Amino acid sequence: MSSGLDDDTLRLTLETIRDFSKERLTEQSILDLDAADEAPEGLIREMCGDGLGIQLLFIPEEYGGMGGGTFDVYRLCEAMAYIDLGIATGVLATFLGSDPISVGGTPEQQKEWLSRLANEGLLMAYGATEPEAGSDLAALRTTATPVMKDGAVAGYRISGRKQWISNGGIADLYTILANAPGGPSWFVVERGADGFEGGKPEDKHGIRLSNTAALTLEDVFVPVERLLGDAEGLGLQQAQAVFGYTRLMVAAFGLGGGWAALDRAIQYSTERVQAGGPLSTKQGYTHKLIVPHAARLEAARAYVEETALRIDAQEGNLNTEGAIAKYLATEAGNLAADAAIQALGGYGYTRDYIVEKIKRDVRITTIYEGTSEIMEMTIARDRWQAHMKTRGRHYHDLAGELETLAARVPEIGADVAALAFHSLAEVLEQCRLNRLTRNQHVLLRLGELIAYAECAASLARRAAAAADGSLESKADPRFDSKTLAILSRIFAREAALKVGEEGIRLVVGAAEAASIVDLQETFGLAPIHSAQRGLLADMDKATAALYERLAG
Ligand SMILES: Cc1cc2nc3c(=O)[nH]c(=O)nc-3n(C[C@H](O)[C@H](O)[C@H](O)COP(=O)(O)OP(=O)(O)OC[C@H]3O[C@@H](n4cnc5c(N)ncnc54)[C@H](O)[C@@H]3O)c2cc1C
Repeated sequence: MSSGLDDDTLRLTLETIRDFSKERLTEQSILDLDAADEAPEGLIREMCGDGLGIQLLFIPEEYGGMGGGTFDVYRLCEAMAYIDLGIATGVLATFLGSDPISVGGTPEQQKEWLSRLANEGLLMAYGATEPEAGSDLAALRTTATPVMKDGAVAGYRISGRKQWISNGGIADLYTILANAPGGPSWFVVERGADGFEGGKPEDKHGIRLSNTAALTLEDVFVPVERLLGDAEGLGLQQAQAVFGYTRLMVAAFGLGGGWAALDRAIQYSTERVQAGGPLSTKQGYTHKLIVPHAARLEAARAYVEETALRIDAQEGNLNTEGAIAKYLATEAGNLAADAAIQALGGYGYTRDYIVEKIKRDVRITTIYEGTSEIMEMTIARDRWQAHMKTRGRHYHDLAGELETLAARVPEIGADVAALAFHSLAEVLEQCRLNRLTRNQHVLLRLGELIAYAECAASLARRAAAAADGSLESKADPRFDSKTLAILSRIFAREAALKVGEEGIRLVVGAAEAASIVDLQETFGLAPIHSAQRGLLADMDKATAALYERLAG
């Protein structure tokens, strides 16, 4: 069981949001706002205020909130992104903005600000990025200069520029990262403070229903009580402390955007008749444009859910797991939305059909909250350590666990995911022997292989849990155990093939002495190729299940 909301409260919350959006955010009104490039501030305030009170979900009960956990927030984020990713960004920016307070604030600061968020429905913004400091936050230039009074620090004067801040032009309250003499530190700044200005909204590719603006701070005075945590220099640690959590939120955005597009493509293909039958009956269509995307999104979901449960069980920050979840879910969301445009043909390419907008929206998810390349680096560095510390056993051991699972619950893809892990262990070992991770390209590509293999394992475990009735009660109910098993087998084949074949490409491409025949043997290419048997039949079954769902 996860902590946070009980099952009924979560279900009711999600239903309320869907009902609200059906009434107030119709597809046409969303398309109109997108065309007008308008962030509907009033609506976002209603959602975060007396109307819906979404912000209460992530505020602890002691401060007047509902005390939702990570799992609840994942479900909420996906549901919001399914409706509109710009609105989701606007609502969730308040959550992100309040994180430095929740994580780094003193009990007094938490009480003051979180209670105000709960009671007044204030909108917040999170001000970390700067023109010169994006992925590399340590390059931060904004300064916080102490103002002394009677020999003690009475406050700070903050000066600098922030870039690409969600809700930047409309928030009531901002958390701002600035360099104090003791190092990077978070400060709370209120809208309207002297010297503080939000820029004009950016003209963006997507999420046009979300306000994004630069901020300018010129000698903005904040009293010392607004230094979060009462100590300078904790800012980067405080930002790091919630990455596992916040990256899961964006992972959920990828799932929501991806499924919003894919569901439209599935529906469309039942209605569009070409060459004598609906497109949904054409294998060349479904097995390329629908099925692999469903499998990839569900693999990412399995990883999101496992990680959310672990964070709720206080297993730590799980930054690497958050990175894996974000990486696969957002990349899968982008691929799915792109395929949905293709699935609608010429119609998909026009602004009248919402898949075109969804594709532009979901594009942001591989950029904000850490780019995909930074995720690859985070994943690869951490798992490289695990490989080194265990003398190469790490992924072989995980493969062993999957083999035990496969013996207990067959046909859920666990045996094939185990092949991916064995292969991965050997790819990493070859990289170690040939010292290949000195090449940044190799290191980052390993990050991708790791994400695929770990998500394949996760989906196999989720399919097994669904089969034996032990799936988390708050888990997404989209698919039954039979369909999950089919999707898991499909994704595990993709992951194993990717690890084995990309592994060879990487090692042969970077190492001088590698023998291709030996590598094929070491990386287990023959069993990985054999495991592709039955793929087409599984894709047929997955198609049937995806379309039955629509009929149901
Ligand atoms: C719509 C939108 C909303 C946003 N909202 C917020 C917000 O609310 N608050 C906030 O603080 N920030 C926000 N951001 C900022 C966002 O988090 C950054 O854009 C992101 O972290 C990337 O930073 P950057 O744009 O400076 O790109 P850069 O860091 O310059 O990266 C450019 C490219 O280089 C790659 N790259 C960077 N470093 C390396 C490296 N060491 N090795 C290899 N490749 C590398 C990146 O992956 C990327 O492909 C938002 C951005 C957008 C576009």
